[in-house]
Amino acid sequence: MKITDVHAIHISLPTVAKRSDGTQDALIVKVETDAGITGIGEVDSSPLAAKAAIEAPMSHSVTSGLRELVIGKDPLEIERLWHDMYQASRYAGRRGLFVHAMSGIDLALWDIFGKAVGLPVHTLLGGAFRREFRAYASTLFGDSLQATADRARWCVDQGFTAVKFGWDPMGQDADYDEALVATIREAVGPSVDVLIDAGQCWDTKTAIQMARRFEPYRIYLLEEPLHPDNVAGYAELVRATPLRIAAGEAESERRSYTHLMDVGRIDVVQIDPTRTGGLTEARKIAWAAIDRGRSVINHAFTTDINIAASMAMLAAIPEAPFLEFCVEDSPIRTQLIRDPFKVEEGYVHLRDTPGLGVEIDEEVLERYARRV
Ligand code: MG
Repeated sequence: MKITDVHAIHISLPTVAKRSDGTQDALIVKVETDAGITGIGEVDSSPLAAKAAIEAPMSHSVTSGLRELVIGKDPLEIERLWHDMYQASRYAGRRGLFVHAMSGIDLALWDIFGKAVGLPVHTLLGGAFRREFRAYASTLFGDSLQATADRARWCVDQGFTAVKFGWDPMGQDADYDEALVATIREAVGPSVDVLIDAGQCWDTKTAIQMARRFEPYRIYLLEEPLHPDNVAGYAELVRATPLRIAAGEAESERRSYTHLMDVGRIDVVQIDPTRTGGLTEARKIAWAAIDRGRSVINHAFTTDINIAASMAMLAAIPEAPFLEFCVEDSPIRTQLIRDPFKVEEGYVHLRDTPGLGVEIDEEVLERYARRV
């Protein structure tokens, strides 16, 4: 089998607001083969910049776009192709954007592999340790305390037993930040797990002070309280608070993650297979975390392609406390995939469909495709 083409398709809502919401646009990747099998993947990054990383022509032996590297190659040689893409983008890439872009192709290759052999990707990764995932509803703080409380209660009404709220306006007013956490705890009651995503908003000392203020509300974890480059600050914070500290979505390949684990000492490692160079690298990061006694959660704030890849990753490791499940209402989140994943009594169930097990609704893709 040979790869015959790679398509990077930018989709977007008519307007994209300046808010921390990755469901407003996406980059969908399709890899075609001469066997008639098409694999699908996704990149959660700056969509048009990642599209350029895929489509750019070679300009130097170590500065190449990804598409022309893989055309003509055997799609089942996934590890080797990953290495080729990494090596051939090593001036422009190695971290960040090019690794994000590699995710779209890598996920599509796993999808092709599964479809070619008639097996789900979690089987190809070594087999499923679990068939169901406890999902937490992942959303953003409301515009007011009341709106945040209403949103929290809505999540519980949908059957979720855990909720995560994040980003703006956290970091602007310490009293309001504590009031947000108190409001969510009050709204969901004592038995629902509450996760708080601070959105990289504090310096080290402020994060330590805020972690102390949040402790009485028994939150399950505090996510990204610090700038991603403040790795020493993470180590200081982890020592200073009993709260679980989570991070990882700002990283890409495994070395940046092991640095965050070994120097930053984070408790919960959040892995986004649409940013890590796909499942080939995500599984290595997950096992590196397990080897260090850390827990692993996915990061997913885009489409069901990400959810499918995340479930394959989490299924194939021994421990996974939660599945992040974005509940934003964008049609890119809810309509792009036929037969979207559903939460039943707080759980999402694994599928045994070959490949990643998701099929794009081509009409929806066309409706939101932005061609330049
Ligand atoms: Mg986050």
